[in-house]
Amino acid sequence: APLTRRKGNPKLLFMGLRKSGKSSVQKVVFQKMSPADTLFLEPTTRIEKASLQSFVTIDTAELPTSLLASPPELDHHAVFSNMGAVIWILDVQDDYLTSIASLIETTVFLAEHYPRINIDVFIHKIDGLSEEYKYDTFREVRQRVQDELSDVGHADKSVSYYQTSIFDHSIFEAMSKVVQKLLPQLPAMETLLNKLCSTCRIQKAYLFDTSSKIYVATDASPTFLRDYEVCSDYVDVVVDIKQIYGWQQRDKTQAVEDGGEIGESMVTCDHSGDTYIYAREINDHLSLLCVMGKGSSADKRVLIDYNVSILQTALVKVFRV
Ligand code: GDP
Repeated sequence: APLTRRKGNPKLLFMGLRKSGKSSVQKVVFQKMSPADTLFLEPTTRIEKASLQSFVTIDTAELPTSLLASPPELDHHAVFSNMGAVIWILDVQDDYLTSIASLIETTVFLAEHYPRINIDVFIHKIDGLSEEYKYDTFREVRQRVQDELSDVGHADKSVSYYQTSIFDHSIFEAMSKVVQKLLPQLPAMETLLNKLCSTCRIQKAYLFDTSSKIYVATDASPTFLRDYEVCSDYVDVVVDIKQIYGWQQRDKTQAVEDGGEIGESMVTCDHSGDTYIYAREINDHLSLLCVMGKGSSADKRVLIDYNVSILQTALVKVFRV
């Protein structure tokens, strides 16, 4: 099926100190483990691999840092040559200076040998810090990493930072951004979503990978965590409805090929009562979730349905190239 496969799947490598949360993040995001159950995970002591089969196939591998220092045990080329991003999990509840030292070493190694690999640092377990202390810690860690990179002559290496916790939506938001940077189709998807938003006067549109709840694209309007949270909860509703009413039943593949109408849509009021949410299954892996601002009404649904089928056809073309 053209929408489900692409060449060069995004490959992610999770690194970080022992017990920093590498397995937990993967299990919660990609395998729907409940955050509380991660308490009992065994610490990672070897390279572990997992693969998510979804809209985009994401390969993840987990690498305990100690291995980086011992080349005979680790075939660097095998591990890094196809890697898209290294996600460094930095546990703020632990002695993070040790982790930073190790991160610097890894960043220098990557900058010198595999400069195309993105480096994304998750400043993790932020839930353990009090509200006012969260941002201070985030800034302090970021500043320290930047300073130390300058000291070793790699000030120009670009590193991205995210505040994360498996106990809220922040981990999904961060993973979304990491994955998006690896999708060559991102600009095309963004253009399509921008167009949809302006034509239908939608406040915010997200294209979700249904199974992981990572969003693979959004329009250019400002992103608010609240919008993301509401939409992400509705992805579950889409999945439930699909199971109850069998959206799957129809022969969608054929309909997509014909550029015809597929998927069902749903318009519903958010709890607060002044926001409408539009939900539509795009294909087996993708869902479109839109936030319509105050004053909009469910009447717009026909207009949106029509424009979404145009978007759907265009997406098929984007991914066929
Ligand atoms: P790994 O060795 O890096 O794979 O670490 P694990 O994934 O086994 O996690 C170690 C511990 O950290 C587990 O007890 C998790 O429950 C806990 N943990 C992981 N993520 C978070 C988080 O975001 N917040 C908090 N408070 N604990 C976390």
